[in-house]
Amino acid sequence: DAPAAGKVGARFDLEKETELRFEVEAGEAAEQVELELLTGMAEVFGSELNRNKKYVFGPGSKIAVFTWQGCSVNLYGKPEVAYVSKETPMLLYLNTHAALEQMRKQAERDNERGPRVMVVGPTDVGKSTVCRLLLSYAVRVGRRPTLVELDVGQSGVSVPGTVSALCIERPADVEEGFSVQAPLVYHFGSTTPGTNIKLYNKLTSCLAEVFSQRCEVNRKASVGGCIINTCGWVKGSGYQALVHCASAFQVDVVLVLDHERLYNELKRDLPHFVRVVLLPKSGGVVERSKECRRDTRDEKIREYFYGFRGVSYYPFSYEVRFSDVRIYKIGAPSIPDSCLPLGMSQDDTQLKLVPVTPGRDLTYHVLSVSSAEDGEEGARKGIVESPVCGFIVVTNVDTQAQEDLNDPHPTGKTIRMLGIMCSPYPLFVVTV
Ligand code: ATP
Repeated sequence: DAPAAGKVGARFDLEKETELRFEVEAGEAAEQVELELLTGMAEVFGSELNRNKKYVFGPGSKIAVFTWQGCSVNLYGKPEVAYVSKETPMLLYLNTHAALEQMRKQAERDNERGPRVMVVGPTDVGKSTVCRLLLSYAVRVGRRPTLVELDVGQSGVSVPGTVSALCIERPADVEEGFSVQAPLVYHFGSTTPGTNIKLYNKLTSCLAEVFSQRCEVNRKASVGGCIINTCGWVKGSGYQALVHCASAFQVDVVLVLDHERLYNELKRDLPHFVRVVLLPKSGGVVERSKECRRDTRDEKIREYFYGFRGVSYYPFSYEVRFSDVRIYKIGAPSIPDSCLPLGMSQDDTQLKLVPVTPGRDLTYHVLSVSSAEDGEEGARKGIVESPVCGFIVVTNVDTQAQEDLNDPHPTGKTIRMLGIMCSPYPLFVVTV
């Protein structure tokens, strides 16, 4: 990864408590930018840089190199923008980490659980970055916190349209972020919680329950606590979803980034023992357009199937008969209250499992493979609350051939899929 011979880097000498911010141009043809720490110490979103190592950042990256003591760095390539800023909220973020660490120490002493922290705020205020920073600082002092990812639009853990939890055991890699091994992932199926808020809240509760169970059997996880990253939708049902999350996880601390109204509302609506803290956003956080968000989502799906940077995956394509899979959609279309069966509410339809007959319209859809066990109606209800064990893409649906269900070797209707799965025994398939 060494820069081409003769390529001269641009040198930046940073004073203590300042940061170098740079952005790499987006687009496939864009050149990557390399960063090298020459002297002193510096970190990228909480992860320390090694000296004389070249870190490579691909198209669209938006990076801040912060130094507590002062340092010199070189940038190779042509960043779209690169400047040094003296105004950063890093000291406040570090103090927040110190306060959380105090809570962990106290939890250790009193045999209690560590802090459960929810990070909230509108879009593009740096929520994910603050989560990454606090998690990396926590592991650097020997803790084992859990990242709970509730941002279904821009998930840092799994493909878009999912909520997940990940045990953090080492600081985020400077170039690649946290190592995503064996996350707990639930299928939501949309990139905005508003599509099915009832399901979103249900899955938040599922994650909270599993996390609490883990804390009961794993002292380190319990003391480490969790950092919950949320969606940028902070009004109406979005706000109610935040309140629900706070109660499901029994959060102790809520960090509100750059939104005074949200801060006041949460202070009013959450129990008095929950510490609600208002923090400023960093001036470096970059606003992302709709297109940019869509590209990031596409990239995340591509990464799942084909790998990332040095790691290549080779998804395989195979055919399955209609009769060998069961495909469901979560949530029935809403119908007028007057047409609902007696005793049933609109809410019930949002969690209903609707069988899907494969058709051409399923082509190029990503499906989650559920870990729920096959069974009768009662068991199937568990699908909504079961984690997923992988994802597949439907590449073709053949509805022409005739299928004889009584034939032990039918050649009929098939779905061609491209897939990578953790579990070799997919029993259920649920559409995204
Ligand atoms: P969303 O609501 O979409 O999830 P967010 O509030 O979580 O957004 P981030 O994803 O944390 O925001 O930040 C947006 C972008 O800004 C990211 O690409 C991140 O790398 C970049 N960024 C964050 N902080 C800085 C900084 N101090 N300097 C430069 N870039 C930064």
